[in-house]
Amino acid sequence: MTVTDPVSAPIAAPLPPLAARAASAKGSAVRDILAVTTRPGMINFAGGLPAPELFDAEGIAAAYRDVLAETPGRALQYSTTEGEPALRTALAQRTSARGLPTSADDLLVTTGSQQALSLLATALLEPGDAVLVESPCYLAALQAFSLAGARVVAVPGDDDGLDPDALDALVRRERPKLLYTVPTFQNPTGRTLPGARRAAVARVAARRGLWIVEDDPYGELRFEGERVPWIASYDGAGDRTVLLGSFSKVMAPGMRLGWLRAPAVLRRACVVAKQAADLHTPTVNQLAAARYLADRDLDAHVARVADAYRERRDAMLAGITDALPDGSTWTRPAGGMFLWARLPGSCDTTDLLRRVVEQDVAYVPGAPFHAGPPDRATLRLCFVTQTPEEIGEGLRRLGRGLRS
Ligand code: PMP
Repeated sequence: MTVTDPVSAPIAAPLPPLAARAASAKGSAVRDILAVTTRPGMINFAGGLPAPELFDAEGIAAAYRDVLAETPGRALQYSTTEGEPALRTALAQRTSARGLPTSADDLLVTTGSQQALSLLATALLEPGDAVLVESPCYLAALQAFSLAGARVVAVPGDDDGLDPDALDALVRRERPKLLYTVPTFQNPTGRTLPGARRAAVARVAARRGLWIVEDDPYGELRFEGERVPWIASYDGAGDRTVLLGSFSKVMAPGMRLGWLRAPAVLRRACVVAKQAADLHTPTVNQLAAARYLADRDLDAHVARVADAYRERRDAMLAGITDALPDGSTWTRPAGGMFLWARLPGSCDTTDLLRRVVEQDVAYVPGAPFHAGPPDRATLRLCFVTQTPEEIGEGLRRLGRGLRS
């Protein structure tokens, strides 16, 4: 008689399952369709990619060269979780210069602002907690909050962004932990929340007890009009607003540099969460960014980028009337990277995408940006990655695809 070793038995026992939060994260049909957008000749309005030819590659390369030549032992070494003092000091100065007094100690450097969203979800959210968001909302923020098990609820709004009265009613009803908002040149709509509404949002947060997460990766990319102060600087918001910043849209997204400015108790919790996530953001990237800020003029660079993006926005506005069917509406962003459109009637932009992609052009359907019932007739177009000529051609193809 042979004895079978249970360890080498041919039948494998089933493995323990994924965590519920991971198992519920679905693949997406849209992602499958958009996979073809990397093929040559494609005009891709779907990605959210800054224009690569406008990166200050030479200036950034010099900054990396200098820190690696002069302080290699530091640049290549582990760093503190909070971030490199030289970068935090420079960021604090930039934030203070824009009207929000900030010291280096108020800031935590993050690996892109996307990481700040995960850290905040870890620090603030229990499964089942309510989170309020704009409608529509930045997609990867919805993901970060959903992965934390939050109940994500959309605040109604209009062309100016979220409605503070609706916010007040929802805060009373849902008792949320936080409101997440991109008040300036929002992703996906390009909308900007006016000052009076920011003041009202601050009052609601103060009166009702609510964290505000104010995500501002696009604010510096202004094409026209006056800067609107951060919500964090309005009465009542100071001790309960987390301001997120990022170099992705003004320097280079590949450097993965963001930061959060938060009240001490929440910032310390985020530091602990970050330790567990990645110990710290790459030292060499932080020092290179600090060096760039010291040696170069980032504001002058951003002004050049904004000039180019304004032309591209104008090219998109010039061609969109002929591309979209009669009865469509769209936003006219005063900055940022995105325009949001709505087709007439009961069009479904997810269904239409397949035919549009056959014309070698792509957009992102609007449905996944909605936390509540989706508006399926909506879509997002990124107007910064292509030249004005390519944008014109892309819109002609879009028109053909939508008519076909
Ligand atoms: N917030 C918003 C609103 C965004 O649009 C993005 C990037 N598309 C991010 C955060 C994340 O940016 P990053 O991690 O590159 O700073």
